[in-house]
Amino acid sequence: MTALPAPSKKKLGLVIDLDTCVGCHACAVACKEWNDGGQFGPLPDSDPYGAEPEGVWFNRVHTYEVTSRGVDRQDPAHAFAAPNLAGDSSGACGTPAANMVHFPRSCLHCETPACVTVCPTGASYKRAEDGIVLVDEDKCIGCQLCAWACPYGAREISEQRGTMQKCTLCVDRIYNETLDERDRQPACVLACPTRARHFGDLGDADSQVSQLVAQRDGYALMPEYDYRPVNRYLPPRPRQDGSRRSTQTPEAETLDPAQLSPLLRWMDRVLSR
Ligand code: SF4
Ligand code: SF4
Ligand code: SF4
Repeated sequence: MTALPAPSKKKLGLVIDLDTCVGCHACAVACKEWNDGGQFGPLPDSDPYGAEPEGVWFNRVHTYEVTSRGVDRQDPAHAFAAPNLAGDSSGACGTPAANMVHFPRSCLHCETPACVTVCPTGASYKRAEDGIVLVDEDKCIGCQLCAWACPYGAREISEQRGTMQKCTLCVDRIYNETLDERDRQPACVLACPTRARHFGDLGDADSQVSQLVAQRDGYALMPEYDYRPVNRYLPPRPRQDGSRRSTQTPEAETLDPAQLSPLLRWMDRVLSR
């Protein structure tokens, strides 16, 4: 079994805005592209053009239909979604109004993750200096105990390599001094066309990401497991259904559209319908 370091002051992580994510998968593809050729690649695929393509993806984007009755309970992954995402609005003909929520999923770099403590070889570990959770493939025996321990489905076994892989928070980018400073961010953050992904130090209350979380009531996934994820999700804002607004007043929204670029203002209008 593997010990965790003392809690780090620096807690690097992602903040993902479910309001502006449009489910384009650019983050997933950019993640695959960077990591396939980077220090932690390759990320092998099997049957990529066949009927059942499968492979190693550190970042996957799921799409849910949410109604005023809640998330479609047929979907086994519904537990990832936030409650009351659809607000209180009704659609035409009395049917519940539905919203699509796109939900990117990758490692949350938890503060007390059992994926590390169950590891029998020390392959899974949490860095003391910045809280990033990594896998040392030279020590991994592919037993998959960490995958069983992770309630977020963030571990990816490589059948070809026989080892476990996962999101590295692009540790080989964010400290990479051969890159321009503006490029020292996770590939998924740089690729997102709607700027739905943010990277920073969630241990610093004054950081841009911490302030974003405070302003938008960002939340951690499934806190009942007490893994204490570092990553945060920002909930979708209430939608209009065409006949009446949802229960939350416009004044309660924290976004100031005047602060946005013309493209984001347009997207905000479209996504707020
Ligand atoms: Fe471990 Fe899963 Fe938490 Fe990542 S999300 S640190 S793999 S428990
Ligand atoms: Fe992939 Fe890097 Fe984003 Fe993690 S931080 S999901 S490794 S691109
Ligand atoms: Fe969502 Fe941005 Fe990823 Fe596209 S790139 S799926 S908008 S988080």
